Order: sequence, then C-alpha cells, then structure tokens
Amino acid sequence: MTNPAETVELYWRQGRKIKRAASGWLSGNAPCCIHNGESPDKRSRGGLKVTDQGWSWHCFNCGFTASFIIGRNLSFKARRLLTWLNVPQEEIERINLESLKHKSMAGILDDRQRTAQTLQGIEFEDRDLPPDFSLVDQNTPIHWQYLRDRYAPEDYPYGMIAGEPGDKFRRRQGVIIPFTYDGRIVGHTRRFFDDHNPRYIHDIQPGYVFGTDLQQADWQHVLVMEGVFDALSISGLAVLHAEINDAQARLIRSLSREITVVPDQDEAGMKLVDRAIELGWAVSIPEWPANCKDVNDAVKLYGRLGALLTIMQARETSKIKIEIRKKKLAQRLRS
Ligand SMILES: [Zn+2]
Repeated sequence: MTNPAETVELYWRQGRKIKRAASGWLSGNAPCCIHNGESPDKRSRGGLKVTDQGWSWHCFNCGFTASFIIGRNLSFKARRLLTWLNVPQEEIERINLESLKHKSMAGILDDRQRTAQTLQGIEFEDRDLPPDFSLVDQNTPIHWQYLRDRYAPEDYPYGMIAGEPGDKFRRRQGVIIPFTYDGRIVGHTRRFFDDHNPRYIHDIQPGYVFGTDLQQADWQHVLVMEGVFDALSISGLAVLHAEINDAQARLIRSLSREITVVPDQDEAGMKLVDRAIELGWAVSIPEWPANCKDVNDAVKLYGRLGALLTIMQARETSKIKIEIRKKKLAQRLRS
C-alpha cells in the first residue's frame, strides 16, 4: 500500500520531465492551466512538495493552488488536481479513505482550532502570485544566497525578482515571499535587495499574520515578531509592521500557545512592547550586542538554537519586569 500522499507525484511524472530542487520542491509542466482559461504550461511553472504528511501544489502559471493533509478529507481543489492528472475516480476515493485512517489526535486538535478560527471569522481569500513569479533554486544563485544568508528555511517556495536588465547595482532585484495560510496562498511580499525605501512591498489582507504554517502541531510556545525574515529564521510569527491590530491578536490567540512578543530593538519596537503589555502577552528583550537589532540578526549571530535560548531566558510575563527591560533597552538605544 503506497502512502496516500505519493499518488500525486506518480501521476504527475507520467510523460513529464520533473526536476527536484534542493528545497524538496518539484517543478515541471502544470496540468491545471488549461482548465483555468490559460494556455498550456510549457515552462515548468508547476510546483509540488510531497512529505509524509501530505502535499502542496502551486502553479505559477495560472495561480491554481491545492493541498492535501493526511488525516483529512481530500479538498475539492485537491480532487480537481488529481482528476487533471488522470488519477482514476476510484483511486481518488481510495486515497481519501486511506487518509482518514490516519486521522490522529493532532489532526482532531487541528480541526478544532480551525473550527474556532472559522467561528471567529478568521478567513483569508486565495490570492494570485505576481504573473512573473518563478521559484528560487540553486540555478538562481544570487537569490538563493540571499535567502541562505538570512537563514530562511530552504523548503519554502520563494520567488525571484530578476530586476531590470543592465542594472549593474542590482537595485531592483529581490525575492518574493508568498504569504500562506493553511497551505493556501493569500498574499505575498517583495523584498528588494538594495536598502532603499520601500524595502518591502506587501500584498496583505487585513488581520493577516505570517508564519502560522511554520508552526508545528505540538509546539506550546509561539514567538511574535515584526519582520517576515525574523519569522522565517526562527519559525515564529510576523505581524509585518510595528503594531498588532485586533484581528491579528485574535488570530494569534486562536493558536492556543504561550505567546511571547520579541520586538525589534529600535524605537518602533517599543510600541510593540506597549501593545504586548496591553494584550497581556509575555515579552522578551534580550541584551543582544549593539549591531544585533532583531531576531534575524540574532539567528545570524548565535544560530537558531542560540537565539532561541537568549529569547527564552529574557522572557518576562509581569508588566513591571517588562517595563524595566524596556527602560534598559531605551537606555541602550540612547547610548
Ligand atoms: Zn496552472
């Protein structure tokens, strides 16, 4: 009996050239586009990642996305993709049955969390990635290296911004980071390599928090930070600006974890501290060296585990102690 997640890859490979990136993402011609009013994909714009837990599909030609998690029913979109790949109907039903046999405790808890989120109106609509989106891999060394230097996990579907031809200084080259929620693409951000403003251009929905898909089911803690690379480098959440609005707070609460806010160590970060106190959340302001301004810097300096240790050691839950740490930070910033 094959793993119910494997079928999609087996059928996709039939008669197609499929390449595997180091990140584990497979790319090849997509079967979906002709069913979505687009011309057939001839440029390998289909992306598939298969794990023991399921699979995720993104088409960078027509924008079609689908995912499958073992333990759950096949979604409508996952069924469509399998049909387009010529998986027979009875095979699709078999995959579904096989999947439900794996329904684990974690899956049930997950469902409960999702029901709670739906009841609270936490929903995001599917969004298309920019039409020029193409995946970053080792064949795009400048983009690949940038992501490595920022300690971004390799198994995330980053896109590249090629920049203007003849632009020696690579002014407008950069990367695109898809925003996902529940395995679906619901927005993205562009991060340009040069440090001119704006460094980021977001396509973001109200109340969105980046990084919920980076959380494991059995984790008890969650870190809340400002930036997308902070979140990527330590598997935390990013609120994407120096404030936490009410909808974001609801979403973060709905994860039912111990919440710790880790502000950037600058003026804007202080605002985030005040908001965390208001929300009754823990705050961590580690005494990092002066050149270390945020979690991503700390991960570069100490490694992922080292950074996490500095964060957990400096974690404060009492309002008074948080205020003391904040004052100390203010002094450090002035000196
Ligand atoms: Zn497509």
